[in-house]
Amino acid sequence: MTEAPETDQTAFSDLGLDPRVMGTIEKMGYETPSPIQAETIPHLIAGRDVVGLAQTGTGKTAAFALPALTHMAADYDAGSLGSVPNTLVLAPTRELAIQVAEAFASYAAQLEGISVLPIYGGAPYGPQLAGLRRGANVIVGTPGRVIDHMSKGSLDLSEVKHLILDEADEMLRMGFAEEVDKILAQTPDTKQVALFSATMPRAIRRISEDYLNEPVEVAVKAKTTTGTNIKQRFVFIKHHAKPEALVRILETEPHDAAIVFVRTRSATEEVANKLIARGFRAQAINGDIPQNLREKTVESLKDGRIDVLVATDVAARGLDVERISHVFNYDIPLDTESYVHRIGRTGRAGRSGEAVLFVTPREKRLLRAIEKATRQPVEQMNLPTVADVNASRLERFSERITQTLSSEDLEEYSDLVTSYVAEHNIPAEDVAAALVAMVHEGRPLLLDEQGEDELARAAAQSFDREDRGGARDRGARDGGPRDRGPRQKGAAPVAGAGNAIYKIAVGRRDGVAPGHIVGAIANEAGLSAREIGSIEIRPTHSLVELPESLTKDQWGALAKTRIGGELIRLERDAGPHGTSGPGRKNSDGGYRGGKKRDGFKDDRFAKKTGKKPRWRDR
Ligand code: AMP
Repeated sequence: MTEAPETDQTAFSDLGLDPRVMGTIEKMGYETPSPIQAETIPHLIAGRDVVGLAQTGTGKTAAFALPALTHMAADYDAGSLGSVPNTLVLAPTRELAIQVAEAFASYAAQLEGISVLPIYGGAPYGPQLAGLRRGANVIVGTPGRVIDHMSKGSLDLSEVKHLILDEADEMLRMGFAEEVDKILAQTPDTKQVALFSATMPRAIRRISEDYLNEPVEVAVKAKTTTGTNIKQRFVFIKHHAKPEALVRILETEPHDAAIVFVRTRSATEEVANKLIARGFRAQAINGDIPQNLREKTVESLKDGRIDVLVATDVAARGLDVERISHVFNYDIPLDTESYVHRIGRTGRAGRSGEAVLFVTPREKRLLRAIEKATRQPVEQMNLPTVADVNASRLERFSERITQTLSSEDLEEYSDLVTSYVAEHNIPAEDVAAALVAMVHEGRPLLLDEQGEDELARAAAQSFDREDRGGARDRGARDGGPRDRGPRQKGAAPVAGAGNAIYKIAVGRRDGVAPGHIVGAIANEAGLSAREIGSIEIRPTHSLVELPESLTKDQWGALAKTRIGGELIRLERDAGPHGTSGPGRKNSDGGYRGGKKRDGFKDDRFAKKTGKKPRWRDR
């Protein structure tokens, strides 16, 4: 296994990408390839199979999309790019499939005639069939739905040249091993395969051995040293709330100078402008800014003319400014190595430093990787509230008054105020208040409480540390599933609050495992893995804990869901005594569950409600 270079000096121009693809990433503001990109792209361009140990947030989508697009651009120029799929990406969930399809399409922005189509479970077939009929060069799909389309004859994979397995370990955990095998086996032997996975369990090794041709294996090396004088904290936050979160922290934490790391050139400008608009002395620095100007900016930071630098990694390389008290990882770095470099910008010359990392819900795994690599805990911090911000504004304001009173000769101004008071017969406090308003130029001194809830929601305070580890982290992007561990034998499953126990008509005899059930239900009904609770596999059926009220669409999708070719025939479980019994009304107004064969329960229902139960056709 080769390791990505320790310091990433490779340029995008070294990778052999098509000029139009280069143009797009230039426009997107990417400055340098991330380690996984630098290490895999040249091999993929050269046609090799690749196994990449990388998780979401490392830039792996571009790592596989840019070379595939480069090949497609060449085919297009040669007139040999047909309308049947050239590239197939398999992704474990529909959220990821959509996200990858969007990223792929944006990387293809300057390539004429290349289309991308996501196909995933839980969505109607009509639009997907229409899309497939129109023809797409890139298909990004969940394994179950890809198999469905293959067996219906609506997806022709006979000319696939690139097959990418994204989050392969997650796909297997969700029970898609058979589907993945089938797709790999039923696509041309000549295809190039790229397999990306956050972990490398035996099952992934087996896929690699069975279907990849002498793959190059790439892992991003984790660096382990960080100064102990740097306190590391993280905030769990949604992307759109980051600017407000940054401002609140800067307003409430005493700081000297700060450096805010973002991912792209355009983001340096955007974030710096937002900070300037909120009254901070901030400036952007990125690779587009000439070296002499960058040096001037660094000088301004050193001598205190600016306090906040918003930078990309490239622009901040080697930056050594003692007064940097805070490093913000506004965008989480693409690799742990950069994290270590970034936070090393503070805590210089024996001082202590603060490192604050913004983590969006999709990036939980990266947080764990960072903790592992730095071998230091990263503490969760709560975002300052509006009340905190207001308290520090008031404090700063009164400090300014005290300071001005003690340091300035105010006699001349004092005379002005005295004569104004005498002339207009207005109390001095009112005049002082008017002067405060003038100083603030109409901007309120204090924030109002509005918006507080939204930021609190965006900060997802409930994020718990346990979520970051081991098996519980699976499905991290859309929330990991809850504990589905074994229950005492024979004990009846009990649903948690807001949940109910459902029965599905496949069991041990059909060879099902919990992963199959999670995969099928999550993808077809669009439930997140977290919404699927305990699973108990019995010989002929299984019991699954799901939300108590499923929507009409979810019932519709699940009515058509199959596991291992068998319809799952989802219904509400009657429980050992029929208490969660048949015929319960669901939120969609329909009656679900229960089987006619259990006459006892039918009678109970009729007695209780005075109604005749309506049974679902089976
Ligand atoms: P991914 O791991 O593919 O989900 O990518 C994580 C994020 O990094 C996405 O928002 C990408 O747009 C961004 N990204 C990918 N490659 C680069 C790069 N070389 N420079 C800056 N941002 C990047």
